[in-house]
Amino acid sequence: HAPGHFRALLDASRGYGERDFLIYEDERLSFEEHYRRASALATVLVRDYGVAKGDRVALAMRNYPEWVVSFSAILAAGAIAVPLNAWWTRQELEFGLADSGAKVLIADGERADRLAAASYDARLIVTRPGGEPPEGAALLADLIADAGPGSAPPAVELDPEDPATIFYTSGTTGRPKGALGTHRNLGQAPMTVAYSLMRGAMLAGKDPAQASGERRVSLLTVPLFHVTGCFATMITSLFSGATIVLMYKWDPGVALRLIEREKVTGLVGVPTNAWQLLSHPDIGKHDISSLGSLGYGGAPAPPKLLERITSELPGRAPSNGYGMTETTALIINNTGRSYLDKPDSIGHPVAVIDVRISDPLGNEVPVGEVGELCVRGSAVIAGYWNRPDATAETFVDGWLHTGDLARVDEEGFVYIVDRAKDMVIRGGENVYCAEVEAALFEHPAVDDAAVIGIPHDELGEEVGAVIRLKPGARVTEADLTGFLKERIATFKIPTHVWFRDADLPRNPGGKILKTHLRREILGL
Ligand code: ATP
Ligand code: MG
Repeated sequence: HAPGHFRALLDASRGYGERDFLIYEDERLSFEEHYRRASALATVLVRDYGVAKGDRVALAMRNYPEWVVSFSAILAAGAIAVPLNAWWTRQELEFGLADSGAKVLIADGERADRLAAASYDARLIVTRPGGEPPEGAALLADLIADAGPGSAPPAVELDPEDPATIFYTSGTTGRPKGALGTHRNLGQAPMTVAYSLMRGAMLAGKDPAQASGERRVSLLTVPLFHVTGCFATMITSLFSGATIVLMYKWDPGVALRLIEREKVTGLVGVPTNAWQLLSHPDIGKHDISSLGSLGYGGAPAPPKLLERITSELPGRAPSNGYGMTETTALIINNTGRSYLDKPDSIGHPVAVIDVRISDPLGNEVPVGEVGELCVRGSAVIAGYWNRPDATAETFVDGWLHTGDLARVDEEGFVYIVDRAKDMVIRGGENVYCAEVEAALFEHPAVDDAAVIGIPHDELGEEVGAVIRLKPGARVTEADLTGFLKERIATFKIPTHVWFRDADLPRNPGGKILKTHLRREILGL
């Protein structure tokens, strides 16, 4: 096997043997057991499901240990893993299955039920079914048991440039795009995280070698179907022998109990998780002295969060990571003393990343000036699945155009100034305005609609909609949200709706002036 692809990493992880890899409620999976189950499932996928190199196998489930086992099995079989968002509606899941052309779907009982009346071609494998598994579906545990003892993953010729994953990220056009990552991209994640830990230790005045040798137990507070969960946490732990504590769903009270019970050393999530943990009334009732670091990213971290961590949890290392689905994991990181010095910065690029700030013509702007943040390097994916148009637009001459407006100071610290892309980040989950607007326009009474971000302390932003109805139409907020529930996941549904008689403000090109609208409505 050529080094540099997932199979090599999986094989090497056996070296951690009986050490805990995954902890979920009272279940514990060692590295050896994870290897055993993943190998068995890979064998079955190839032997009984005809999965071949390059085929897509989708995943739709909560953060169960089976998510990780399935992911490893899919990649070890040479197939492409397609982690679908578990909060998606039936319609959204159908889209992901059709767009990726998945041959097999591995889903939990809840997702299987949601898809009961759906039409899709993939063969279904179910774990943790609510009742009888749907007709024709196999049970994951049975397949693993049937594989035969001691089965090694099938031999597949893999190259580091072979595709490994498709993660859906919504698009400005409203239709989600599949970010196609390679085995090489995946292999960069452990390096990125190790580099951030090294720098964090150095900035905290610790010996990085000693810090990296400390036993790490991460509490994963975000879904595995996003890159922070999958690459920055799961792949990195598989590589480094660290333990991951999984949660059924995010709950700050449960998190406090788990930190105490499992002696968690680090929290990985979005700023909302850290904020809610600090705000929980029981925080003083638990021994959370093991918790050494709070890492978050995926959304702007308010400077107030850093203040709260330093005053309410002194001695803990906060760390702010910037990244995108298209960059596999975090690629810019602020931690240690430099984070305290420059709390509004996202920090320095990690070792494998080049950063450039461009004007609209693609020219680099002078130091200190604002432009679009563009990045390049081995963590950056090559493009989108079957979307040459979107790929050409976003990846220009090897540079990924992030859609974020940023500046860099004289010391190389990066600051996100604004978001050029029309997107709301609600508790770390991205909501593309165009997608919600498109769903609103399907309602016969809606004449015009604009979706905007509403500032929110805990979630960062909430989703708001400004609606102009057709003349004579009578619709309530509840009617509209009920209508949307069928079409888009709950986290995308506006929680604030304003009806308006006047036209929405537009520029001469017909684009809605959202900044005007936000100022008008919110006084911002
Ligand atoms: P994931 O949701 O998989 O954890 P992510 O949120 O980092 O990853 P995306 O969902 O693709 O990745 O969202 C990327 C966008 O989120 C960025 O373009 C930027 O607008 C915003 N973002 C991510 N991290 C930060 C950060 N630390 N500070 C400010 N904005 C951020
Ligand atoms: Mg996100």
